[in-house]
Order: sequence, then structure tokens, then C-alpha cells
Amino acid sequence: MHGHIGGAEQGTPAEYVYKLWLGNGITTVREPGCMNGVDWCVSEARRSAANTITAPRIFAYAAFGFKERTPMTRPEQAREWVREMKARGIVGMKCFGYRPDVLEAAFAELKKQGMRSACHHAQLDVARVNVLTTARWGLTSMEHWYGLPEALFDDRTVQDYPPAYNYNNEADRFGQAGRLWAQAATRGSDKYEAVIGELLKLDFTIDPTFTIYNAARDLMRARRADWHEEYTLPSLWDFYTPNRDHHGSFFFDWGTEDEVAWRGNYARWMAFVNDYKNRGGRVTVGSDSGFIYQLYGFGTIQELELLREAGFHPLEVIRSATLYGAQALGEEQRLGSIEPGKFADLVVLKENPLANLKVLYGTGHIRLGDDGKVHRVGGVEYTIKDGIVFDAKQLLADVRRMVADEKAKRHIERLPQP
Ligand SMILES: [Zn+2]
Repeated sequence: MHGHIGGAEQGTPAEYVYKLWLGNGITTVREPGCMNGVDWCVSEARRSAANTITAPRIFAYAAFGFKERTPMTRPEQAREWVREMKARGIVGMKCFGYRPDVLEAAFAELKKQGMRSACHHAQLDVARVNVLTTARWGLTSMEHWYGLPEALFDDRTVQDYPPAYNYNNEADRFGQAGRLWAQAATRGSDKYEAVIGELLKLDFTIDPTFTIYNAARDLMRARRADWHEEYTLPSLWDFYTPNRDHHGSFFFDWGTEDEVAWRGNYARWMAFVNDYKNRGGRVTVGSDSGFIYQLYGFGTIQELELLREAGFHPLEVIRSATLYGAQALGEEQRLGSIEPGKFADLVVLKENPLANLKVLYGTGHIRLGDDGKVHRVGGVEYTIKDGIVFDAKQLLADVRRMVADEKAKRHIERLPQP
């Protein structure tokens, strides 16, 4: 539900991203933003739908007001933007916040056009438009978690920012984000219950993307994940490496205090998401990989593990990854379950992911065999999309070759370490 197709700044060709996705069993991706260009994104979605490229099915959502003409100042411009996107083949809107009157008009037009929406409520606008505001206007899914603690404030209306806070300094942005959930209404309070109740009534979808912030609570683990050496392109590794100009590479001086704050953030956030699910709320699986040491495909499997950590039963995790995703896309008639009349999308493997979600990782799971030797088991064998059978292990072998080729070109054997 949150899959960007990489791009020039990461040095990640679409083929690389698609093969990582299919190789980890992903058959459908919502592209929230189409940052490589609206027309390119729509063209990729059409080529995938026609099965002329090796790629998951793509739902193209355009980013509202992002690098588009001049800033919108009148509601009518938002309505025009939505109509133009629809005419170009876009099926939904991704937004980060905007001037409230303009943004509200966009939601009204989306509704009229039968289009869906996703919002990352960026801190720049969240004091005047939080998750409840946009949900009331018709937002269909919230991304990540920003805007939710703000909707839950009961002893303040603005986050406790330090005076020198600068959103464009990502050490500030992500460091203070890690201190945000502690400022929200506590679990079980009247405010907490009221927010859950209203979001449920609005049939709202939460797409948490727990995985993309995982490095913030355990940087060493994220940097040394099993898959990096063989599957992460050196150009993407460069992009992840601490750098003031790269989005998500904010580990300038990231230490114990930041990680501990983020662990507390996760505990509160996960509890909310699990409560929402238990009351009947729709929670989906997104990843946002390509940033912050999270790799395409692998990040999605990690998201399944994080939903499990939040309290989901493995069956609830699988439902979030399948049927709930299809519902959030408005595609449950065609996708999301194995039923007559739907697309033949299946994942085939030799292990049981309900017993251990790790067997879904392309790198598999480590197990000591009866022979006394340590083996790698699992990994998806076949990913079937629209009835077409892809050899998942072959796709991942292609990715390993792409990585090895780039290393050879750079005359390096391993990813550079500081
Ligand atoms: Zn994103």
C-alpha cells in the first residue's frame, strides 16, 4: 500500500524494484506519489496491467501540489488538478497537507470522481489539518502515523517543538518525531476512545508503515540486515548513508537517547494500531522502502513482522496484506482473496508463514537441520500475478547479479562502511 518505484536519486532502476517486490511475493503495489512523473507512473501501471513488463500490478496515486506548476491558492485550482489527474489516468491522490480550504476542495472533487486518497500529514501543516480533519473531508487512508498523535492531543494543540526546530534538518524532524506519541492522549482516555470511534465510523484505513522507521529505534540492526550485502545496490547504500541532502539519511549523530525515545514511540503507536484493528478498523500493509535502510520487498515482509509485534495474529497480518489492502484500493471485487472471479494472485512457498513470517523473506530463515548443519529455508518459490507464474528465486538471482555488476564497476567487493 505504500511502494515507491525508486528513482534517479537512489540510482534504482524500476526493474530492480519490481524484481525485489515480486521476488518477495508482492503482487500489487499502490504508488503513493508517482514522484518519477505522473505519465510515466500511469504508463507503468498500464504496462503491468497488460502483463508486458515483469512487475506487480500498480495503482498510481499522484502527489498533490508537489512540483506541479505554481502553488494553488484557490479551491477551484484543486478541483481542476484532480480532474486533470483523472484524465491522465491517475486513480488516487497522495497529499502531505496544504492550505485547508484548497485541500478540502481536492477531497470533495476526489469523491465526485470516485477516486481514493492517501495522506502523509507532514509536520508543516499538521497543526491545522490533522488526521481527523482530513478523514472528515473524505481522506480514505492515512500513511505512517503523523497527524494521529495531533488528533489525540488533549493537553496541547501543537507539538512541544524546541525553539530551534527546523523541519528541513532531518535530525530535528525525525528526532522530535520520536518524542511525539508521548505527548498524545493516553490509551483508554476519553479523547483516545473518541478518536478511534470517529475513525471507525468513517470507515478509515490506517497504513502504518512501521518498517520505515525501524532504523530509528535500532540503527545497527537496520544497517546490518541479512539482505543488504547481496541485494542493496551500492548507489542505494550511498543514498542511505548519513547525509544532510538525502531524505531519510538523518543519522548525523543518532544515539541511545534517540533510539530509546523511538522505542517508546513505537510502543504507543503499535498499541493504537492494534486497538484500532480490534475494534474492527482496517489496517493495511505498506512499507515506503527505498529510504532509511529499508529495502524494497524485504521491508514489506518486515512490516508483516511488525504488525505481529503490534499484537496481530498471523492470520490478521495476512488479512491486512491481502483483503484489507484490496478493500482500501476499492478493488475487493477483483483482488485480495482466492475466490472465483478474482485475479489469480498467489504466493507459493514450502514453509508455513503463519508459524514464522520470516520464511517469506527472500533471504529465508536460518534453521539448524537434523544433519547438524545450519540451513537457509523458505523464501517464496513462485509469485503468481494475474495467472502468470514468476520464479521468485530467479528474480532475486537477477537482482543479485545487478548488485554484483554495480560493485564490479566500482571495483568494490563489499558495501562501504564508515
Ligand atoms: Zn512514501
